[in-house]
Amino acid sequence: MSENDQVSSQLPAKLYIVATPIGNFSDITYRAIETLQQVDLVAAEDTRHSGKLLSHYQIKKPLFPLHDHNERERGKVLIDKIKAGLSVALISDAGTPLISDPGYHLVNECREAGVDIVPIPGPSAVITALSAAGLPTDRFSFEGFLPAKEKGKQDKLKALIEETRTMIFYESPRRIQDTIKQVIAILGAERKLVIARELTKTFESFYSLPAEEMLVFLNQDSNHCRGEFVLMVAGAQKDEDSIPQVALNTLALLKEQLPLKKAAALTAQIHDRQKNELYKWGLENL
Ligand code: SAM
Repeated sequence: MSENDQVSSQLPAKLYIVATPIGNFSDITYRAIETLQQVDLVAAEDTRHSGKLLSHYQIKKPLFPLHDHNERERGKVLIDKIKAGLSVALISDAGTPLISDPGYHLVNECREAGVDIVPIPGPSAVITALSAAGLPTDRFSFEGFLPAKEKGKQDKLKALIEETRTMIFYESPRRIQDTIKQVIAILGAERKLVIARELTKTFESFYSLPAEEMLVFLNQDSNHCRGEFVLMVAGAQKDEDSIPQVALNTLALLKEQLPLKKAAALTAQIHDRQKNELYKWGLENL
């Protein structure tokens, strides 16, 4: 602890993981406000951004920068401060810290060091989006951001072809159209998608369409691609009679080089399916 650190002793010396709004400043809990008012120090990803957030709630606290690039090294300093008696809140730019945001290493190291961690729950875009999407919520898979590079993105989507749970991705406005193109190519044009845009903000919108129609819709108007996005993808249908998407992808690929009959026969061997069903599907769709 440095000379400048003052222990206010209003809260026990612990790490408090505090969720903040994802757009609408009214979406903050009483407990989050009380915690932020009472801690000695607030660790934040972007101290300028968080300074503005805190001043909106008339809270003035010393801020400690903690982001992806300094988390491991600066986290140790924070742990020393907590051990010396300071209470510390961790916040991120929006939503719940650690959810596609910094904090994992700090929390992990606090656990190792025997420092208590208290979660103060609140908004997160993933749960907010899912709660109003109309897709199955009993089981879901949060996939965070897809890799930015084409190959990495394709590999990740290929690994999800058979996933039956609702899948949830964070996506940037610059990449949303390309991502949907890859979804069409890998998961199929008919796969149901829901986009939650600008959650809790003035232009909050939900778009629910099959993948191919979603791409057309996004291309229609640049306003449809503005702001922040959560992309939700319906899980694969596990219908005994339906041909798995992975087999359809193989068939489409082979059909580029071979007559449909041959492509269907090879696909049938590779995926242990009936060649007639593949041939029929190819006639109708390729
Ligand atoms: N920690 C945050 C949380 O709990 O949701 C997520 C932070 S991550 C760096 C930012 C991404 O979350 C955005 O690119 C977007 O995909 C999603 N997101 C955050 N706020 C959003 C909002 N208001 N509407 C839609 N998506 C949002």
